[in-house]
Amino acid sequence: MRTGEISAGVGETPLVKIKSLSKATGCEIFGKAEYLNPGGSVKDRTALGIILDAEKSGKISVGSTLVEGTAGNTGIGLATLAAQRGYSCLIVVPDNQSHEKYAVLKALGAELIMVPACPFSDQNHFYHTAGRLAAEKPNRFWANQFENLANYQAHYQTTGPEIWMQTLGKVDAFVAAVGTGGTISGVSRFLKEKNPSVHIRLADPFGSGLFTYLKTGAMKSTGTSITEGIGIMRLTANFKQARIDDAVQVTDQQMISMLYYLAQHEGLLVGTSAALNVFAAYRYAMENQNSDKTVVTILCDSALRYQSKVFDPEFLRQKGLSPEPNNFLL
Ligand code: PMP
Repeated sequence: MRTGEISAGVGETPLVKIKSLSKATGCEIFGKAEYLNPGGSVKDRTALGIILDAEKSGKISVGSTLVEGTAGNTGIGLATLAAQRGYSCLIVVPDNQSHEKYAVLKALGAELIMVPACPFSDQNHFYHTAGRLAAEKPNRFWANQFENLANYQAHYQTTGPEIWMQTLGKVDAFVAAVGTGGTISGVSRFLKEKNPSVHIRLADPFGSGLFTYLKTGAMKSTGTSITEGIGIMRLTANFKQARIDDAVQVTDQQMISMLYYLAQHEGLLVGTSAALNVFAAYRYAMENQNSDKTVVTILCDSALRYQSKVFDPEFLRQKGLSPEPNNFLL
């Protein structure tokens, strides 16, 4: 058992075998259970990495205010860690995220500023708003998860090595969606250093420009997605560190079907980006059927963080989505 501060609970998450999909494909499909982090998501690793780096370089000390623009999870990660370390949190969020995230941020004592969801070019975007607010007072520190390389370094130092050790070096492929690029960059760099032939695949929702960027060099998007925390229309400093071999797009219906499939066949309650990741990992396994390959993806957070959306039949109906889990085994 780990003892100590709350930060001792960040990382070292189980690697869960997705048994039915592994059996159906003749591959080993694993999900890293990041929803078990103290703040409930993979972004706890980023939050801790950024805080430790800022403490080391003297950018923050007791009494500092951590400022961040976030779809929610990084803010929750920062707020979870801030309490014990003597920091306050000022968190800027777009107004189209799940209510559960806002409620958790408030419960953790973070000051919440909600801005309209808008394109990055708009100065009201949560990213620019956070930057402006951080510059207003001297004791404020902008975590800046998109450009702060402590983000991908946290994954290079923890997530990557954990996957390597948990698969006993047998990992053949790693699949992940991108929000800041921290996860895919840190993990891909680490795994490729260990074994350059590990296949790295980006899983992109519609409404994101990265799939087309990786295929054609042009950052273009079509459609939209109900997924949260993933999909971007620009190259961030963290994403630029990634070593990616291929990219696929996943529709919201494929994602929702997988979300319900995992709940009903595996007892896994995962959030929207995690369901999208598993669908893309399953697709990779189908392409490599009966090869016994080991595929790893990230279970970024829990379905419970999105209950008011993904468990609401009316919400799904309005989005034209069906909660029927496709029977992937047939
Ligand atoms: N899934 C969820 C739910 C997230 O909040 C995020 C981060 N915004 C990601 C996936 C993507 O992770 P990363 O920022 O490391 O690319």
